[in-house]
Amino acid sequence: MQTDPRSAATCLIFTLLLSLSSSSPLPSTPPTVCIIGSGIGGSSVAHFLRRYTTSNPHNVTVGQIRIFERNGHVGGRMATVTIAGETFEAGGSILHPKNYHALEFAKLLNLTVKNPPSSSKCLSLGIWNGDKFLFETFWTNSGYSIVRRFFSLANSVKMFLRYGRSLLRMSHLVEDTLGRFLKYYEAFESRPVFESVEEMLKWAGLYDLTAETLEEELLRAGLSPLLIQELITVITRINYGQSVSISGLAGTVSLAGSGGGLWSIEGGNWQMAAGLINQSNIVLHLNEEIKSLSNNAGLYELNSSSGGSYTCHVAVIATPLDEVNLKFTPSVSVPKRKLQHTFATFVRGCLNPDFFGLRRVSDIPELIGTTETSRVPFSSIGTLKQHNEEDMTYKVFSRQPLSEDLLDEIFRVRNETIRINWAAYPQYHAPERFAPLVLDQSHLYYVNAFENAASTMETSAVSAENVARLIISRLSSHSLSFTSDLKSLDNHKQQLHSDL
Ligand SMILES: Cc1cc2nc3c(=O)[nH]c(=O)nc-3n(C[C@H](O)[C@H](O)[C@H](O)COP(=O)(O)OP(=O)(O)OC[C@H]3O[C@@H](n4cnc5c(N)ncnc54)[C@H](O)[C@@H]3O)c2cc1C
Repeated sequence: MQTDPRSAATCLIFTLLLSLSSSSPLPSTPPTVCIIGSGIGGSSVAHFLRRYTTSNPHNVTVGQIRIFERNGHVGGRMATVTIAGETFEAGGSILHPKNYHALEFAKLLNLTVKNPPSSSKCLSLGIWNGDKFLFETFWTNSGYSIVRRFFSLANSVKMFLRYGRSLLRMSHLVEDTLGRFLKYYEAFESRPVFESVEEMLKWAGLYDLTAETLEEELLRAGLSPLLIQELITVITRINYGQSVSISGLAGTVSLAGSGGGLWSIEGGNWQMAAGLINQSNIVLHLNEEIKSLSNNAGLYELNSSSGGSYTCHVAVIATPLDEVNLKFTPSVSVPKRKLQHTFATFVRGCLNPDFFGLRRVSDIPELIGTTETSRVPFSSIGTLKQHNEEDMTYKVFSRQPLSEDLLDEIFRVRNETIRINWAAYPQYHAPERFAPLVLDQSHLYYVNAFENAASTMETSAVSAENVARLIISRLSSHSLSFTSDLKSLDNHKQQLHSDL
């Protein structure tokens, strides 16, 4: 086949022009960044961008950072609820003792760390199957630590008698997975910058866990079906509102969140996002929902619900894209994903012992977990605070909204009820499919692509840290390649000129 040299030359000019327009123009001022979402993901990206650009070998600096938040407050799924004058965590509640980014944020921001009530006293747990409690722990609210220790020992024996050595296998599995996850805190020298979630998970040895269900993983590890159907199901239903058919990694992360030493921030975990934003020299746009994002000759143009229009060299999506109404031009491609809605119902009042076939309120366990059966209309009921024997604050999680009639059956007294419908976390399926971390060939990043591995405050921060490094590394190689593009363009120009 013969090629017309003229059309080849035109084609070459076109390609060069295109390559110039699709890459961001080399800014004469440091590149600006627009972040959509002020949760732990968005605020962490801003924090790490500022931190890593104060001293980096590439001398990359970042100019203005804007964060857009559709709500009137920051924090996203980290939020509190105030019921009958008292404030409790409504979304992301507990952190693991090895959530090192969150621990570092708390320290940096001078926030007070507190342990949940379960660590100061021996909370009772009951596993409810809709007809009866299949298993109950002993409990005490004694102030004597020796008594609490005795009850804790008695509970260990009781659990061991029911579930046997499977409990040890479960704990080994969780420790092993946690050990792999800790690789994400290694120093830069030994930890690459990851361009995709798959690469990130494979490097830590976690990818295979996303390819099978939690149940498959646990059966392969030799755990007893009884432990899986009862205790482990209770945990996945509380943490992800889903059954043990969720993917193995999300499931194991959820099991890790039911261990000891858990903590939270006094006054609300949302303060981590607020503090990081305050510290990072950010322009914060509250009540501004971004409706469209377009790449105009390498600059991103964001248009908001309130008529604002902003341009940035780098754009970061720090919210799940699954239920947001955001138009991309050109369009981006992410695998379809459904979010699991969790209905959190907060009640100040008193549970009805009759509903559970019990005689006294004091017979009802403080944490009611449930098995996977259509007979149970809720996933869990936890006592947040006991004000007196017949006056408590409860948090009920369910997959569907609870009707007034049903609540009146479950509760003998209801002084106040608050309902929140959370688009809470992905519906996990094995094998998981991951959206790209870089949504185009340029500088459009997606922090929440990592949520298909697991959804927690810490995993958002871990993904955000990698995205911040990725931005810096791609900005530096981009400006280098841009400079060399210019050089090669000059060469081509000369060639073209002499040809002509
Ligand atoms: C009920 C519940 C319990 C949980 N329990 C725990 C727990 O105990 N421990 C734990 O670690 N994790 C828990 N999680 C998960 C944890 O809260 C989340 O994984 C984490 O907070 C996600 O943070 P993020 O910043 O990635 O997203 P988000 O917190 O969802 O932040 C995204 C933000 O973007 C904003 N936004 C969206 N679209 C736009 C737009 N177009 N324009 C402007 N702003 C926009 C949203 O309003 C939101 O503020 C729980 C979650 C829920 C719902």
